[in-house]
Amino acid sequence: MSLDTRIYRKLMETAQRAKTITYTEVGNLVGLDMDDSQQREELAHLLGNISRNEHENHRPLLSVVVVHASGERKGIPGSGFFSLASELEINDGRDEDMFFAEELKRVFDFWAQSQELPDDLQQLFNDAPLRNIHQQDDELPDDDSIYEGAKRRITVNSYERSPEARAKCIKHYGAVCQACGFDFGKRYGEIGRGYIHVHHLVPLPKIGGNYQVDPINDLRPVCANCHAIIHRPKEEPLTIEKVRELLENQAKITEQ
Ligand SMILES: [Zn+2]
Ligand SMILES: [Zn+2]
Repeated sequence: MSLDTRIYRKLMETAQRAKTITYTEVGNLVGLDMDDSQQREELAHLLGNISRNEHENHRPLLSVVVVHASGERKGIPGSGFFSLASELEINDGRDEDMFFAEELKRVFDFWAQSQELPDDLQQLFNDAPLRNIHQQDDELPDDDSIYEGAKRRITVNSYERSPEARAKCIKHYGAVCQACGFDFGKRYGEIGRGYIHVHHLVPLPKIGGNYQVDPINDLRPVCANCHAIIHRPKEEPLTIEKVRELLENQAKITEQ
């Protein structure tokens, strides 16, 4: 199930302010044009995934905050939202207006009270140091996000940001730097647990049209420092092996 973290965050932030947001505004966030029926469907699908994920984690249907700006359904969500509510057996036959009002209140109440991101979402948003969701840091660019690395800003590509690919990579390798062995959880305790960057090994120019990221062969967990060093050369990133070699060489020098 693909979860769009930009939309996810925007919806949480909207809920925290006890506001609603329009389909067009959400679509703009991810470059989907609401005048195009296929793109409308795509957005409906992304919103549905978010609410399904919320439901799986025993929270109210967050996408209730997304409403139509005009037309017959002005101020309420599209029919897809109500079908989902019936499918998940959350709406047990209340009429749409009543269900909408009650679910919206459940969402506002839940998010107004949560100072911290729920654990499952912390995992999902792992690539941004988002501890307090009351901060407004959802203004990430579309196709490449920026890590505030310890040494310099790193522009990462979408493969390094894909929550699904990240999760699979981290599940396979663990949240441990594959270059230096750094483990944020060990070093910083609870707050660092699970935090790690994910580096994409395949040079972007070599990626063709049908490329599908392979989370185990193409991605590696790395710490923020090693990630910064990997991307330090302008031309081509360093390999993980090269970083290991540099670290070993430096260790030898300091031993002497
Ligand atoms: Zn490292
Ligand atoms: Zn990288």
